Amino acid sequence: MKVGLVYDPIYLKHDTGQHMENAKRLEAIISYLKQTQLKQQLTHIKPRPATTEEISSVHHEQYISYIRDVAQRGGGWLDADTVMSPDSYEAAIYAAGGAIRATEAVANGEVGSAFALVRPPGHHATSQQAMGFCLFNNLAIATKYALAKYDLKRILIIDFDVHHGNGTQEAFYDNPRVLYISTHQYPFYPGTGRMDETGAGEAKGTTINIPLPAGCGDAEYLQTFEQITAPAARLFKPQLIMVSAGYDLHWADGITLMQVSVSGFSQMVKIIKGLADELCDGQLVFSLEGGYNLTALAASVKATFDVLLGNTVEDPLGQSPRRLDAPGITSLIKAIKEIHGLP
Ligand SMILES: [Zn+2]
Repeated sequence: MKVGLVYDPIYLKHDTGQHMENAKRLEAIISYLKQTQLKQQLTHIKPRPATTEEISSVHHEQYISYIRDVAQRGGGWLDADTVMSPDSYEAAIYAAGGAIRATEAVANGEVGSAFALVRPPGHHATSQQAMGFCLFNNLAIATKYALAKYDLKRILIIDFDVHHGNGTQEAFYDNPRVLYISTHQYPFYPGTGRMDETGAGEAKGTTINIPLPAGCGDAEYLQTFEQITAPAARLFKPQLIMVSAGYDLHWADGITLMQVSVSGFSQMVKIIKGLADELCDGQLVFSLEGGYNLTALAASVKATFDVLLGNTVEDPLGQSPRRLDAPGITSLIKAIKEIHGLP
């Protein structure tokens, strides 16, 4: 099956200056995909801007106007972490629209799976607040779009960024049609994502938080994917799987103390692809979140595409040289399985 790539140079125009979340991230990925001849194996999908109506499925209209106004006034800092330039609003509506186009292309059968390489990232943006480098919640907007447009009953969101996707959790906390599963370092920014945050009302149980201690590597992440994510997905039986793909848990990434390697990412993506093949005709949509070491980010995104294409995966960076002792997470996994009644 074809694998789609959503990308547009508009995403480089969200100018954050010396900020760690900057245009060099996407430039590094695209140039590595070209250099390794992977780009030519992908089906290119042009993004479109998301409409205000589509964005307002997740964000308040006043907040959308506020973001537009800040851009029109020349940009500025929205909080201690999140900055905008004059073109950031346009980049942000194209980022949300990029995730929507990736979803449409998969749902229409133009491609089997797709990856939206977009910025600004999205999973911290709440209904009325920009935070953590995020303006609009691209993946949540695309998920709402898929629920409405294709009348889907069950969508699974897997968020493996090292941070908890507080915005995505909020968007679907009381929605039983969306199962949100997040692995994240905890305690850590943004402070949410305890294992007892499990959803509200009839959606109780459709938020699964896996708060991991610092120092986890490939083995620990794979343990959570095999023992929590996979059985929870099989019970939920999603019709589509959406992935908030953040690569800031790579050992070389300065933002985190996690120890995951490129090879570890490829094994996580293999499990996700296996679940999509088994449960929903392979329908799988990725949207880029974090990842700040340019070499590790580019290699990890390429490894993700290689798994989707069925290629062999190379890990040019290897395992962490830091050799931190990984913490044991067996009792944590047991506690989460008990909370969620997993086999
Ligand atoms: Zn992150």
